Amino acid sequence: MPGGHYFKAKDKTVHFHKLLLKRRAVLLRWLAALKRESPPMGTDSRVCSEHFLDEDYLEDKIFESGKLVVRRTKRLKPEVAPSVFNFTSKTKLTKGVCH
Ligand SMILES: [Zn+2]
Repeated sequence: MPGGHYFKAKDKTVHFHKLLLKRRAVLLRWLAALKRESPPMGTDSRVCSEHFLDEDYLEDKIFESGKLVVRRTKRLKPEVAPSVFNFTSKTKLTKGVCH
């Protein structure tokens, strides 16, 4: 397809994590990180993966060709809260909860 540039930026796959509304202790830490006092309306609010560290994710250990391979999953560890934020400039908090 000439002229088409539809590649995703490498290593920039963003995925989203729903707010853990049922886990109050964790939810409160998420809200603190997001500088919010209460969850936004609608339980579909999500925080994107850019606000989490690599080590916030669960690992999978698999055997591949006889070797033990550790790889990150897209699932967060149960107690982590988003911690990567840059609120210094004019960050816009629209109806999503992040960015
Ligand atoms: Zn975000």
